[in-house]
Amino acid sequence: MVRTYWFVPGFNEASGNLDLQPFARIDHVEACRPRARCICKCTRRVLAGQARGYGRRTMTAAETTDKTYDAIVLGAGPAGEVAAGRLADGGWKVAIVERDLVGGECSYYACMPSKALLRPADVLAEARRVPGVPVGADARLDPAAVLARRDQVIHGEDDSGQLPWLEERGIDLFRGEGRFVGPGRVAVGDEELTSSRAAIVATGSGALMPPIDGLDSVRAWNNRDATTAKRVPASMIVLGGGPVGSELAQAWASLGTKVTLVEGGPHLLGRDEPFAGEEVAAALRGRFGVDVRVGDLVESVRAGGAGVIAELKDGGAVEGEEILVAVGRKPHTDGLGLDAIGVEPDEHGFLTVDDRMRVGGAAALYAIGDVNGRALFTHVGKYQAWIVAENLLGRPVEAIAEGLGSPRVTFTDPQVAAVGKTLQQAEEAGIDVHLVEVPTDGSPGASFQGKGTGGRSRLVVDRAKDTIVGATFTGFETADFLQAATIAILAEVPRARLRHAVAPYPTRSEVWLKLLEKWEAGAG
Ligand SMILES: Cc1cc2nc3c(=O)[nH]c(=O)nc-3n(C[C@H](O)[C@H](O)[C@H](O)COP(=O)(O)OP(=O)(O)OC[C@H]3O[C@@H](n4cnc5c(N)ncnc54)[C@H](O)[C@@H]3O)c2cc1C
Repeated sequence: MVRTYWFVPGFNEASGNLDLQPFARIDHVEACRPRARCICKCTRRVLAGQARGYGRRTMTAAETTDKTYDAIVLGAGPAGEVAAGRLADGGWKVAIVERDLVGGECSYYACMPSKALLRPADVLAEARRVPGVPVGADARLDPAAVLARRDQVIHGEDDSGQLPWLEERGIDLFRGEGRFVGPGRVAVGDEELTSSRAAIVATGSGALMPPIDGLDSVRAWNNRDATTAKRVPASMIVLGGGPVGSELAQAWASLGTKVTLVEGGPHLLGRDEPFAGEEVAAALRGRFGVDVRVGDLVESVRAGGAGVIAELKDGGAVEGEEILVAVGRKPHTDGLGLDAIGVEPDEHGFLTVDDRMRVGGAAALYAIGDVNGRALFTHVGKYQAWIVAENLLGRPVEAIAEGLGSPRVTFTDPQVAAVGKTLQQAEEAGIDVHLVEVPTDGSPGASFQGKGTGGRSRLVVDRAKDTIVGATFTGFETADFLQAATIAILAEVPRARLRHAVAPYPTRSEVWLKLLEKWEAGAG
């Protein structure tokens, strides 16, 4: 197979190394406006000798017109991009189809903007806790600056910065809605692409809008509205106290919005240990002034009051200028043409896959990322992309991470970082477990973040094996504690061995030393 590589002066002809960075992006951006057919436009300009700084290596006439690919990837979110990149690096001819922005939900409307909105409050809280930093108790965030920084992080919803990565790998990008018109055949607008070896569905998910009376009569916000809003609403109702609802409630409250959060379950973050949700609820109430209502349901919604009024099941009503719906995700499988390939999604619209991400066990159709519903996180989507690429490139491997309990972080303050099984999940799985718990801020290293960061660190220990099957860390910036727990769970490292993994002094990683000491003491 002949591949085409565009390169800038300095390209290593001898080694054929394509990893030249940074790419000469200015020419590229000139040539490829977002939402245009990027690669084809570039190709035409280079062939016409117009693109400054680009050279042409090899190309056959057939290649410019042939729409047959080894693999077609539908959706250029994190999962799709990684799959396409790995296959292209492995020598495959790859097309990727994207109807919106390359980078997907995560880059522009989910992970990245939400973290950009949350981070300033963390910094302010830490600065307030540490004497000597000249931040008074009445210091407030500057909302305009926070929103401007958020816009930088999401590149003003412009994906041109992502395109060179595809180009360097010779991946053809097709802009538009992709849909199957037959096995291995994908239509994008009036073009038809053919995959000779694999089609990979990575179309992600969007906000689930529940059938609440009146909800469609008000202009309810979804995650896209809530992560890209250009002004700070005076008040907001947040429906749903999972990670998305909790994070966005905190983010907007930190900027001055009066937030009411309504969660139907008994506590926030229902998939995590109950104490985690309780700590987050307490912080939202106490530090961010959020009116958190757990165990209640919004029954109906109508326009009125400050903007929207929501009637609650337990009686009474709450109102807000905006209402944000964060009650779950709906996979993007509608309109994918699944009928044409004889595939039926499950009752919620997800594509069921096996541990190699094959749909229906067929070797030519895969689904990765949110659309398969196994664990809706960017890191899991990228992991699944690796699984698919390895299998397609002849290195068979099966996914095991989701079965053990994928790592997950809710970036509120306190942060909630968890991996593996909760106590309840372990018990339901029939594992005889005991708990090891210490305060997260109990190590000398923690004192540098200031007094009163609080939090709890819990290990769920398999009594028979003396290994960890679950871990949860709450407190200030606990996310980075997680990888050690992930490795310990995956490798089933017994306590006696783990005791030799020495944490440096004085770091907050010594929470592990505290946990091991407690674990040892309990083991007698
Ligand atoms: C507010 C919020 C915060 C989050 N924060 C985190 C976090 O901190 N960490 C984390 O791990 N996860 C987080 N997530 C989850 C994370 O965003 C998703 O798990 C991740 O984006 C899934 O990646 P994906 O590639 O499967 O799908 P997506 O990112 O949804 O990308 C799918 C792409 O496919 C495109 N597409 C859909 N249908 C078609 C079609 N027919 N043809 C062509 N293109 C199509 C879409 O336009 C989209 O670009 C968050 C989610 C939300 C809502």
